[in-house]
Amino acid sequence: MSKPLNNRHLPARITISLVLLLLISALLFDQTPNQTSPTTVYAAKEVTAPPAPPTPTEPPMPTPTPDPAATPTPRAPGTAFRVGLQAGHLRSNELPEELAHLRSSSGSHWGNLSEAALNLDIITRVKPLLEAQGVVVDILPATVPTSYDADLFLALHADGVASGSAHGWKLATPWRASAASKLFLATMSAAYGPATGLTEDAGGVTFNMKGYYAFNFRRYISAIARTTPAIILEMGFLTSATDRAVLINQPDRVARGIADGILAYLQQRNPADGGALLPPEYPVLRTAAQGATLRAAPRDNARVLAQLSADTRLMPFDLQDGYYQVFVHTSKSRTVGWVREDEAGVTDEQPDFPTPVSQ
Ligand SMILES: [Zn+2]
Repeated sequence: MSKPLNNRHLPARITISLVLLLLISALLFDQTPNQTSPTTVYAAKEVTAPPAPPTPTEPPMPTPTPDPAATPTPRAPGTAFRVGLQAGHLRSNELPEELAHLRSSSGSHWGNLSEAALNLDIITRVKPLLEAQGVVVDILPATVPTSYDADLFLALHADGVASGSAHGWKLATPWRASAASKLFLATMSAAYGPATGLTEDAGGVTFNMKGYYAFNFRRYISAIARTTPAIILEMGFLTSATDRAVLINQPDRVARGIADGILAYLQQRNPADGGALLPPEYPVLRTAAQGATLRAAPRDNARVLAQLSADTRLMPFDLQDGYYQVFVHTSKSRTVGWVREDEAGVTDEQPDFPTPVSQ
């Protein structure tokens, strides 16, 4: 890929307005990272914490704060793409009060190598590969700048297990994923596996990944903007010898795969489609009086995961072929599956997907 990437095909009038808006924003919000040093880590702004929740474990949903990126803001033509690469756990001790419960989250490790150090090492190798294509790169620590607005956000992590032979990489979008986040996941998935030769940990995606704190703009100030396409990549397991042979011994292969996944997304996205940046909104549902069937796929003949009793609370995050994909928290389990649209009724309850207590 030799051609520098940039945005095109935007109407000139919108462009001029956007340039003015960007200039004003730049003056109002001095968040420009130092781009002269390749190793500079984006220093997040101090933020005022919202009112403390009544209990630290189950905070209520706060009233959403005004989102400066509520309307998609395509970049002006000729403006370089800007991407945020987050080194998971990096300086997690500096997380703001609203994320104090994650301050001690140091991630996995192998011997003296911490996950945060590995994540940062890979990112510093990805950065020049993207800059060579004209892309501006923000290296972000655990603390994400308020409503971080960019052409994409990638959270980088590596897994670890106390015992067992778990290995491989996995990817997740936020619970409610925009078309742009889904496309980003697809391009990263297509690039990362072949570049590293590592296997995919299919089925290993956790609620913690989909509910990653930095995706949760509804709950946290230190999170991405609603319209920033985002995914989290668990690059592999530091506790797996097979994965370490690539993650630690051949980090440039890892970096190449990540850079290619990002560049493919930036090439394939449709800059004219602002709607692709918007995450879908669904009402909280409750099963009808006759209950509902939770299935493994959006089809009437798909495997039955559970029979849900009447008035079971359902949190939809996708809609396909007349089926909602929902998160269900019953007294026995937490499950994801598909429920037919006509087996659930709409409520006006506030959504509350599970959020990680460690990451
Ligand atoms: Zn991690």
